Amino acid sequence: MHVFTTAAALRAHAETQRRAGRRLGLVPTMGALHAGHLALVQRAAADNDEVIATVFVNPTQFNNPDDLRHYPRQPEADAALLAPAGCTALFLPTVEEIYPQPAALRFDFGPLERVMEGAHRPGHFNGVATVVSKLFHLARPHRAYFGQKDAQQVAVVRQLITDLSFDIELVACPTLREADGLAMSSRNARLSPEARAAAPLLHQVLQAAAAQVRQGVVPAQVQAAALAALAANAAFTPEYFEVADGQTLQPLVGYAAGRPVLLCVAAWLGGVRLIDNVVA
Ligand code: AMP
Repeated sequence: MHVFTTAAALRAHAETQRRAGRRLGLVPTMGALHAGHLALVQRAAADNDEVIATVFVNPTQFNNPDDLRHYPRQPEADAALLAPAGCTALFLPTVEEIYPQPAALRFDFGPLERVMEGAHRPGHFNGVATVVSKLFHLARPHRAYFGQKDAQQVAVVRQLITDLSFDIELVACPTLREADGLAMSSRNARLSPEARAAAPLLHQVLQAAAAQVRQGVVPAQVQAAALAALAANAAFTPEYFEVADGQTLQPLVGYAAGRPVLLCVAAWLGGVRLIDNVVA
């Protein structure tokens, strides 16, 4: 596995691979890799000749300085996990390499980012779109792999690809979970044993809500029941629970036949902010 730390080296590598007619898959991550990340790499390895994984804790997508400071960083361990999963090149840049100067360009995805993560984390999707655009230009992938765990990110990147005519196929991959249902996340490592024991409630509440949606319970009632179930556990401070249209991500007041419903939750647990979602 190649390891590149400069944009120029990654660009040259991608160019060489493309000239040789090889298909490139890109897996952007912030590191502290777990099985969910590795599943994206394995999928990319199955679909492509070359898999470029990036490990970069992108400061511009953090609206909370404490979250950025505490974000787990373990590049050596990440590198050791990536090669066996099928990664052929790892891009491990510094902040200065990605942002030699602060970006002046600002992205605005309209209604797509006025809800959920976009509404609660001002500037988050601007930072995501900035770094993803840079990585697309540097790595020049044919396909890019993103996790459904970050459903709104998938929608934003899909819009980015369309609006800027990137010739890239977005591949959205299912959420990998621990045996007790907790969605795998790098932030889970920061949970205390007590918080970790309480954490599966998040997925249980999503599943109960999905069952209600299938029974036709109106969105407002589904939302109220889910927020009440979370608030009943003193360990949790819910931030939002949304019953949203699976495509537009806008909150629903009722259901339209045949349209997927996306249930999304964000909650604080022992000082750690967790998100999860399911499609009903
Ligand atoms: P992150 O390092 O958290 O930015 O995540 C990098 C990529 O891995 C994103 O596309 C995430 O959606 C995806 N990802 C994170 N957690 C999971 C998971 N539990 N299952 C599948 N994909 C995930």
